[in-house]
Amino acid sequence: CGIVGYVGHRQALEVILGGLRRMEYRGYDSAGVAVLDGAGALTVERKAGRLANLEIELDSLGRGHFTGTAGMGHTRWATHGPPVDRNSHPHRDATDQVAVVHNGIIENFATLRAELEQAGVELTSDTDTETAAHLIARAYTDGATAGDLPASVRSVCRRLEGAFTLVVTHADQPDLVVAARRSSPLVVGVGAGETFVASDVAAFIEHTREAVELGQDQLVVITRAGYEVTDFAGEPAGGKPFTVDWDL
Ligand code: GLU
Repeated sequence: CGIVGYVGHRQALEVILGGLRRMEYRGYDSAGVAVLDGAGALTVERKAGRLANLEIELDSLGRGHFTGTAGMGHTRWATHGPPVDRNSHPHRDATDQVAVVHNGIIENFATLRAELEQAGVELTSDTDTETAAHLIARAYTDGATAGDLPASVRSVCRRLEGAFTLVVTHADQPDLVVAARRSSPLVVGVGAGETFVASDVAAFIEHTREAVELGQDQLVVITRAGYEVTDFAGEPAGGKPFTVDWDL
């Protein structure tokens, strides 16, 4: 329902929680975050209920546990599976290397889920989203897209039906965050030495007003240095730059 991703020079956790707070007006039933540190550790926490519930959990674990300058956050409006902790986003693959947050509905998730189960993958949630995490992890491990996170995400996006905004990180790739969209909103925020993705500019206008709207079936890779947009076939694409002119 609300999505934010970040790569920059600040502590990602605070940027992400600030972004989620600014999108609270949308309404949601669960919230979660993933933070990547430079050493390849991916730390995830998620909780049913209001953002305050997640924050209480983060405080009890110790926020120092979530040190890192890249990551993502999500507030969920459940469509597949009840609003409980294990259905909250981010979702991960079995090796906890890939984390995914998702807005929307993957219409063909039952087919994808059956395919994964047949391959011996154990799914741990009721969501449509979790299938994307496993498929991306597998694409990153084997075959033509091995070791290439953007290419892995593109290959999985081509297989998904329905409406989605996805944000994806891999523990092996601590300096980039990948996001993709079809029939669901996604904007990039371009700062100085920091880059954002979000479902709504509200998530980052505190930090930058330079934004880029992604078109249908486009993917963006964000790094500290900027962003790069392609279509799902990997061809360079533009996005639509604009300046956010409303007051905070
Ligand atoms: N379909 C996903 C789920 O039920 C995402 C829902 C959303 O857009 O928040 O978990």
